[in-house]
Formats: sequence, structure tokens, C-alpha cells
Amino acid sequence: MPPVFRFAPSPNGYLHLGHALSALLNADRARTSGGRLLLRVEDIDATRCRPEYEAAIDEDLAWLGLRWEHPVRRQSEHYDEYRGALARLDAMGLIYPSFESRADIARQVTERGAQWPRDPDGAPLYPGSARSMAPAERDRRMAGSEPYALRLDMAAALAHTGSLTWMETGAGPSGETGTIPADPSAWGDVILARKETPASYHLAVVVDDAAQGVTDVVRGRDLFHATAVHRLLQALLGLPQPRYHHHRLILDGEGRKLSKSTAATGLRELRAKGVTPVEIRATAGLD
Ligand code: GLU
Repeated sequence: MPPVFRFAPSPNGYLHLGHALSALLNADRARTSGGRLLLRVEDIDATRCRPEYEAAIDEDLAWLGLRWEHPVRRQSEHYDEYRGALARLDAMGLIYPSFESRADIARQVTERGAQWPRDPDGAPLYPGSARSMAPAERDRRMAGSEPYALRLDMAAALAHTGSLTWMETGAGPSGETGTIPADPSAWGDVILARKETPASYHLAVVVDDAAQGVTDVVRGRDLFHATAVHRLLQALLGLPQPRYHHHRLILDGEGRKLSKSTAATGLRELRAKGVTPVEIRATAGLD
């Protein structure tokens, strides 16, 4: 079976050099390994995703010289699959709703003192206040009009799977490579869905990679630590585990990860200035 690669951008802005690096690495590896290249449109966040950005993704990738298989998988067309995965985790007793806003959580965390742990992205861990809510109150509040998040009970999930690892052929932020011990507990009781959204990034990416038969995940190093959560969900849902390759990030002049397309880094802007795809490869550090 040929290896299967995917590039999975979110259509919430225009592609920049960082996306180009990721897309080209996926395409190069697919080509040199005789593998397949898939595209996945990660459009679950309906408030930020727009059709014109999706059209621009196709156009910019084609301009870069990429060819990918069709049909393209669009997350917004697979809500039932995410709900199915969530229902399985729920049946295992691993999901609970929490009703606090971000500000409520910040307040709870402040009350608990300055040393409250933060996740690898710097957000305070959820204190778990809703974990012990009585079932009747849970049901009553979920039936009402207030928003809620559905969280994974991390301790209970880890009791199911025991310790996990993943195979890393790239490197993490501290040079981690090879067999990596997964530490999903660093993320606490992560959100897997919300009242109005059937899946968080973590749940969708795991369901999608399995549904698309992805064998090799090549993506930016900013997602290295999130892989621990992905491995945990794969183990809980009985899904195969891909190999992972986290690649370096392209940073801006201030040493920050590129976040949105600017005149200096946006592929459309560079194309309009007459920059060629070969020059984009070179600027992204590829030969
Ligand atoms: N959609 C994510 C992003 O644009 C990438 C997800 C992934 O490759 O796993 O950052």
C-alpha cells in the first residue's frame, strides 16, 4: 500500500510561506515515496472560514505546482462521523459537559493561585469543576439555552489506554525525535466538541486522518505537543496511528510564527509581485 500524505489548511485566511513549506514537504515526500497526496479543508469553525479562502487555497496550491486527489475532504460535510466518535467516547463514560465561559475559568484558576498549570499552548488547564456535576443537573442544563463544551475526562481516558508513544521522523521544539512518549495529561480535560460545533480540531483531525487512510502526517512543529492528544483519541477509538513528521516553522522578523498572510509572506501577494514558484521553494528553504 502506498503511503498517504495530506495537507490540511483551514480556509480562514490566505496561504503564506509557512503553508507553502508544509504543502511542498507533503508533496515532495509523497512523490519520492510513490505515495498519494490528499487535501483536507479544515472548515469546522464556521465563524472564521469563508468560501473565497477555500477557492484561494486551490488556486495558490495549483500555482505552486501541487496536484492532489479529488474529491477533497471538507470537514463541514462529515459532522455525523464526528458525532459518532463522540458518542463512542460518551458511551465509555469519558465525556462531560462544562458550562463555564473562558472568563469563568480564568477566575477559578486565579482563585487557585499563581502556580496553576498551563497547557503546552500556555492556556490554563481546566480546573475540572464540572466533572462531578450530578447527572440530573447536567441533563437539565444541557437541555437549556446556555452554551457548553464537551470535555474528555483525561484521567479516566488514560486509565483506559495506559501509556502511549508515537513515531516522530521530524522533531519537536526541543529536538525530540524517534519514539516519543505521549503526554496528553499536559492538556488537561481537553474540549472535544461544543454545543453548536460537533468536533474540536483534536477530534476532527483524528477522525479525518483515519477516514482518509493517512499514514504520514507532515505538519508544523507548533502541533507537536497536540499529537499526544491525537494518539490518545486514536487509542480510545481503536484507530490506526500514522507516522508523524513535524517540520520547522517559518518565523517573521520578530521570531514569531507566521499567523496571517502579509505582503511579505502571503503567496498571493508574492505571486502578484512576480515571484515564481521556484523562488517560493527557495524562500521556504527547500531545494
Ligand atoms: N488545519 C491545521 C492548520 O491549518 C493543520 C492541522 C494538521 O495538519 O493536523 O494549522
